[in-house]
Amino acid sequence: MELIIDNLSKTYSNGIKALNSVSLEIPTGMFGLLGPNGAGKSSLMRTIATLQEADSGTVTLNNLDVLEQKNEVRKVLGYLPQEFGLYPRISAEVLLNHLAVLKGLTNKKERKEVVNALLHKTNLYKVRKQNLGGYSGGMKQRFGIAQALLTNPKLLIVDEPTAGLDPVERNRFYNLLSEIGENTIVILSTHIVDDVKELCTNMAIINEGTILLKGNPLEIIKETEGKVYQKTIEKDELEGYKQEYKVIAEKLFLGKPIIHILSENNPGNDFKQIESSLEDVYFSQVFGGLQ
Ligand code: ADP
Repeated sequence: MELIIDNLSKTYSNGIKALNSVSLEIPTGMFGLLGPNGAGKSSLMRTIATLQEADSGTVTLNNLDVLEQKNEVRKVLGYLPQEFGLYPRISAEVLLNHLAVLKGLTNKKERKEVVNALLHKTNLYKVRKQNLGGYSGGMKQRFGIAQALLTNPKLLIVDEPTAGLDPVERNRFYNLLSEIGENTIVILSTHIVDDVKELCTNMAIINEGTILLKGNPLEIIKETEGKVYQKTIEKDELEGYKQEYKVIAEKLFLGKPIIHILSENNPGNDFKQIESSLEDVYFSQVFGGLQ
């Protein structure tokens, strides 16, 4: 299985260029599309999910033309949008069963088997009789995955799924996705670097509709290898450092700012060279240094 996106562009009627000649090759496994809000991630996800048109370019899933053969694609596609509504007053089991009927699973015995298997897979079996309105954020997301898996998709698209999940829920969700990614193309769009770092074998960084970097996370980390330096400073020095250096990250440790800067050469001034991280690459690419 391979999804090939070639030169995909989209400009909205308000003149915003959401996708600018995007080209990506996405094999089976977990693929992370990392970018800040407004980067064009949802526009790309919706286009691949056959929900919106592109102006130019092609998308191919094995031998299917995704932009033309929409109905064929929908049979092998699972999609978890950024926001989705759930009927709060019915249980996961009832809604999943109902959605399975809509997807054409008309044989009752077979349908029950599929629904139960998905409830087990997403760890919702014990709470299957509870109303969805009482589910936590993580449970809702896992229900979203369960419904997206009803058609046994070859391509699963999840748009910003971990926002608002607590660390335990996030971990459980990661495990679920990575299991699915063993034999499915899973595209995870996110602005959270950890999502990609922990899960994805391949990734791309997108900003302003343009793919800035693509590859596996280890290759991408090499982008800033040997160029990241760290220093603990005083709070009132921060502005001065920002003027003088290309500050790509700042965080507090025991109340004091620790800054990361990008520099081709050793900057001296008590800066210590550190190992490059995906965060450093991401922030240096997308924000080009914090101002
Ligand atoms: P992301 O998912 O990375 O946050 P989006 O694809 O939602 O990014 O948006 C990319 C850009 O396109 C943003 O500037 C957004 O405001 C704009 N945009 C998104 N959808 C529409 C639309 N339907 N009409 C006009 N502009 C849009």
